[in-house]
Amino acid sequence: MENKYLTLYSFCLSNTICGILIVSWLARSIFSNALRTSLTWRNETKKNQEEENKMSLLDLPDLTLDCILQKLSPSELCVMTCVCSELRDKCVSDHLWKKHMETKWGRLMGDAAIQDWKSHVATLMMCFRNSNRSSSSKPNWSSRFVASLKPFSFLSSNHGCDKRGSSYRAPIDSVMYWYSNLENGKFWFPAQVYNRENGHVGFMMSCYDAKIRYHYKTDTFQAKYSAHGRRAAEENVTWQRLRPSLIDIKSRDLHVSDCLHGLRPGDHFEIQWRRTTEFPYGWWFGIVGHLQNCDGEDNCRCYSHDNVVMEFRQFRSESPWRTTVINRKDHRETGNEANGFYGGVKKLGTEDEISTWKQLWPSQALE
Ligand SMILES: [Zn+2]
Repeated sequence: MENKYLTLYSFCLSNTICGILIVSWLARSIFSNALRTSLTWRNETKKNQEEENKMSLLDLPDLTLDCILQKLSPSELCVMTCVCSELRDKCVSDHLWKKHMETKWGRLMGDAAIQDWKSHVATLMMCFRNSNRSSSSKPNWSSRFVASLKPFSFLSSNHGCDKRGSSYRAPIDSVMYWYSNLENGKFWFPAQVYNRENGHVGFMMSCYDAKIRYHYKTDTFQAKYSAHGRRAAEENVTWQRLRPSLIDIKSRDLHVSDCLHGLRPGDHFEIQWRRTTEFPYGWWFGIVGHLQNCDGEDNCRCYSHDNVVMEFRQFRSESPWRTTVINRKDHRETGNEANGFYGGVKKLGTEDEISTWKQLWPSQALE
């Protein structure tokens, strides 16, 4: 090759222009080869460096990873449980789920619902322990994990976890398991429903105890009421029509009224009422009215009288359900089989409580 170039070079020396062109071509050729070699070497080096720089999510410091996981939604956390066992263990942590539980379910998880869930978990744990004792001499503590249970089965159909063969394992006593049971509608829990039976005229401006469960597709609830002689149920109960059940007042217990001496005209209250003594109580919204002989706001002495007028202004003024009178000194339960029985009274203290009731007001007065 060198001889060939030298011969060509000697031949062309006689022609200056030709010589310059040949030298230029040789120089360009050499530079081009060198450049190609250099680029190939650089690319290979870069590729190797990229390989070395690859980092797993799990290589992040715990605190950083935790901050990322805290930003994830319940469904995203659920997806992450499918990635690997290490991430799954992190993603089922109670501290990540408590925030989600509080945000979505905190308003409805009253003392009664929490107690029901705790007893449900205790029963499950006991069953698993008993089952382990009978199958093995050594207790298997992994039984607190729910094997093959898919608490987010409704989500898995969207992100394809099932296809990857993953199975969720959430500890029975974990917040994630509780949350997933609520979302899946597997957990019936106690709550109170305003205007039960979808605004049935006989229950307007009342609030009754029920067992409810969630339906995620419609973002509503199914409710079951317990009543003497019949069981009633309804679908599509909205969040706005629900409030938590209190553990200290059961639907058949008479509430002890401790507010009667302070009731004044215009005060808002709830009073227990039941059709007969066999029925559970519901809570009915009302406003304290003036006694018949009171001649007005300025000279009103109703607050010092033994009798208190309880008004239910959702009914027309001529309706037999419009008012009832109770004695503030010795009231426990008053009434009869014809008009029902009025039980304990709660004075409403906050604007939130009052405005919730007012939003449920019927479009026209009831008979
Ligand atoms: Zn008065």
